[in-house]
This record gives sequence, structure tokens and C-alpha cells, in this order.
Amino acid sequence: MKTYLPAKFIVERDVSRCIQCQVCVNQCSFEVHHYDAADDEVRSQEENCIGCHRCVVFCPTNAVSIRRNPLDYRENYNWRPEVIEDIIKQAETGGVLLTGMGNDKGYRIYWDHLVLNASQVTNPSIDPLREPMELVTYIGRKPDKVDIDSGSLRLKTKLAPQVKLDVPVMFSAMSYGAVSINVQESLARAATEAGTLWNTGEGGLHRKLYKYGKNTIVQVASGRFGVHPEYLDAAAVVEIKIGQGAKPGIGGHLPGEKVSAEVAMTRMIPKGTDALSPAPQHDIYSIEDLAQLVYALKEATDYTKPVSVKIAAVHNSAAIASGMVRAGADMIVLDGLRGSTGAAPKIIRDNVGIPIEMALASVDTRLRQEGIRNQASIVIAGGIRNAGDVAKAIALGADAVYIGTAALMALGCTCCQQCHTGKCAWGICTSDLALTKRVNPDIGARRLVNLLRGWSIELKDILGGMGINALESLRGNRLALRGVGLTDTELDILGIKMAGG
Ligand code: SF4
Ligand code: SF4
Repeated sequence: MKTYLPAKFIVERDVSRCIQCQVCVNQCSFEVHHYDAADDEVRSQEENCIGCHRCVVFCPTNAVSIRRNPLDYRENYNWRPEVIEDIIKQAETGGVLLTGMGNDKGYRIYWDHLVLNASQVTNPSIDPLREPMELVTYIGRKPDKVDIDSGSLRLKTKLAPQVKLDVPVMFSAMSYGAVSINVQESLARAATEAGTLWNTGEGGLHRKLYKYGKNTIVQVASGRFGVHPEYLDAAAVVEIKIGQGAKPGIGGHLPGEKVSAEVAMTRMIPKGTDALSPAPQHDIYSIEDLAQLVYALKEATDYTKPVSVKIAAVHNSAAIASGMVRAGADMIVLDGLRGSTGAAPKIIRDNVGIPIEMALASVDTRLRQEGIRNQASIVIAGGIRNAGDVAKAIALGADAVYIGTAALMALGCTCCQQCHTGKCAWGICTSDLALTKRVNPDIGARRLVNLLRGWSIELKDILGGMGINALESLRGNRLALRGVGLTDTELDILGIKMAGG
């Protein structure tokens, strides 16, 4: 059937610069460029281009450029180009539209409407270059009160298991199969070097990554892929995945063609079979059921590790979070509307869930009101972009954040949203062996460590500017935030004042 979809991008090649080296032919995994030997010329089939920039970056003579096709549809706020094209695609395929990465719609990004405070005359600012600044965060249940031995001044209260983070930024769950083994190795090594944690996602833990266990969060998801006692033992934290921000309420599907021998072995499923994660955990239909799994995992790990529960941010997150804490979760994870994925139905990704800022504020408020905020750490995920977002999240009540997309961007991802195709030209979201080699774990780990280092310095700058020397003093301190351009209702839910007030 002839497609009615025009090319989204125009591929231009400056023939005066092109040396026919065919680097673009080899780098493009979407079969855009081809070499015509008869004419000794490289040509392009631009309707295949998804705008990933790989060829542009690697062309040695800067001969290639990619730009949006300006031949657009007639202006119409209702029938926007994306809406028209989605209808055309469905008329041609008769299927569900799949996509990768997170929600790209224009929902308000509240971080951009929050501003942080700074000291001026009183409580002077601190110069982080000359004075020590503390970013260390401990993840895990904190006691209601502590007893201290009056003689030795030692803590008498027995603490629940705690995990130390040198920087309050962890790497989000990205499963083996959804991302390549080289990506996971880059994340694991970077987490180890930077003193933070990475997360296996729901695909099990590859044998070569067991040595990074002290910096690893292992997931127990609805498909139970790769879950066994050794897997649980290896980890620093065990995370029960109930939901995911990119696709709240639905399960996952790793197509059989991505289930290579190694992926199959790690997931404990036959090679080449579809890995289907059911929408619900089939043994969890109530908070009591959740408590049973939390305590089963604590028993299985001899009460030595925090158990985390992750949900998508939805309308009643605050009530659910209260139940999760009462079910024994030591860490609760809220994954917001802009959370990413390797593959999701577009209709779910773009229309379901709530902004993480609102979910965080309401959960933190609710747990404080109920007097149980100390019983679990709050970690948020879903679109955290920079150290400013991290600082605002901490001030709104988070203990730490997860980053997924930002971490992949450090490895080269340009957010082309083609993760579900398995053809990622940057070698990130793929199990194709040739593409996988495009991420070198030595370089990948270095880039990720650099990112965390840069954010750490910026966080210290922000703290110093506020005249505080420890992240702990910012945590849940909403007085450090003001709103700009927000309604009274939004300010009320966020629990902050308007700028100037
Ligand atoms: S490498 Fe990416 S940007 Fe270049 S032609 Fe292929 S799809 Fe387009
Ligand atoms: S991971 Fe790869 S396919 Fe997915 S958005 Fe990034 S560059 Fe595109």
C-alpha cells in the first residue's frame, strides 16, 4: 500500500564536501543512505529518516545536514500534523501506535514555574569551593525516635537497612533487552564510581554485572523475569515494580526478536519468545497482598536490604503511597507523566498519569500529615533534566531522584523516540550485536560520571547560595521555593507561596 505520509526530515548532502567514504551509510541503522557505485555517489531515501543525528555527528567532512521538512499541513489547532499522521498510520496498519521515550506533549512542566531562594545579607551564602558541602543521602526507613546511650553517646536504636548515596541521583530502571548490555555496564560502572545506584529494570541481572551488586537495585516486576535468590542477594536494594510513568496501568512487551540467547538466559525464558509482563502483579490485589510480597522479599534477603515499591504517578498517588509505606516499603518511587520507556502504546504514554511535581508534593504532604514520612524514602522519576530540577525536587520533599532519559542522552541518545524499533542508531535501545558495540562501556561510564559530577558541583553551588551546607537542610523545605505563573490551586497542591510572598 502506498503510504500517504510525507518525509519528516530532509537529508542534505553537500557534494562539494562529500568524499564518498560511506560513513553515513554504515552509521544509519534506518537505511536512509546508500552508495550508488555506478555514479560513485551517496544518495538518501529521506522518508526513512527519523532525525537521530547519527550520520551528521559522524560524517568526517560535515557534508550531511538534516532538517525538518517544512512542507507542512494547513494550520489547524485541532487537526495538528501529529494527529493527522497518527490517523494515516493507523489507516495503513490497523494497529496500536507504539512509541519510545517519554510523553512529549505540552503539559505544564512545573519545575519551570518554581524558583529557588538564595541568601543575601543575613545567613550569608557559603562558598562551596572553600567550605565542605554535604550531598550524602541515606535511603531506607528511619526510626520514629532514636535512643542514645548517655555514657558512650552511641546510638542504641537498631536502624533498618540504609544505603548511602554520595549524590542524590540514581539511574532509573532500564532492563537488559530494552537497553543493550553495554549500556547497563556503563550505568553499573558509573554508579559504582560516583557512589550511587543503577537499576536492572525487570529483565534480570546479567552474570557479568554481578560484581556491581553493591550499587545495584534489582527489580521484581510482574513478569518475574530473572528473579532468583542469588539475584536478590546480589543487590543493594530490591524494588517491586507495580507501575511505570510512561505506561501506567499496562504491562510490557519485549518482542521475541529482541530476546537473544543472552537476554533469554538472563530473563530465564526461551530464546526468541516474546517477554510479556502482565499489567498487574498477579499476586497483588490489595495493600495486604503488597505487604506479603514486601515481607517475602525481606525474609528472602534476611532483612539486610531496603525494599522499594515503584508506582506510576496517578490521581490517588498520595493514598496509594500511604498504603505502600504501611505495607512495609522502605523506599517509594513515584514515576511521573514524563517518564520514559523502550516501548509503549502512544495513546497511553500521551494521555495517562499526572505530572511528577504534583504527585511528589501531595505524597510528601500526606505522609507528613499521617506522621509516617520518616518510614520510607521518597524517590521520584520522570523527566528530571538537570541539577535545578533535582534541587527543586529535594525541596518539594524527595530524598533522591532517578534519571533515565538524561542518562541515555549522556550516552548519545537524541530522543528520536524510535526505541521500540530496536534499531537505535546510537546503540542504546537495541540488542543488535553490531549496534550494541556503538556504546563503549569505558567511554559510557566516563560520560555518565562526568554528568553526575557536573550536577553535584551545581547542587553544591545552589546549596551554598542558599547559605546551607547540607542537602538534608533542603529536603522538604518548601520555604526555599516560590511559584511563578501558577494558580492558587496549583500553589496550594505544591504547598508553596507565590514569588514575592
Ligand atoms: S543516521 Fe539518523 S539522522 Fe542520519 S539519515 Fe539515518 S535516521 Fe536520519
Ligand atoms: S535510545 Fe536510541 S532510539 Fe531511543 S530515543 Fe534515544 S537515540 Fe532514539
